[in-house]
Amino acid sequence: MPRPRCLWCTETPYQEAAVLKWRDEERERLTVPLCRKHLIRLKDAGPAGRVQKGWSYKLGWW
Ligand SMILES: [Zn+2]
Repeated sequence: MPRPRCLWCTETPYQEAAVLKWRDEERERLTVPLCRKHLIRLKDAGPAGRVQKGWSYKLGWW
């Protein structure tokens, strides 16, 4: 089994986070492992979210 790692880097996840991933009209509600750094970045991004590889992400499912 591979070691669990953050969705966006090779760090060990800090926690599983409920995130909304969206692009145009597409919506995906996911629970993803995030490292502390990326969790904080997503928190700081707030409702506007942050873009990764063409998709926007924000914390929470709504
Ligand atoms: Zn990370």
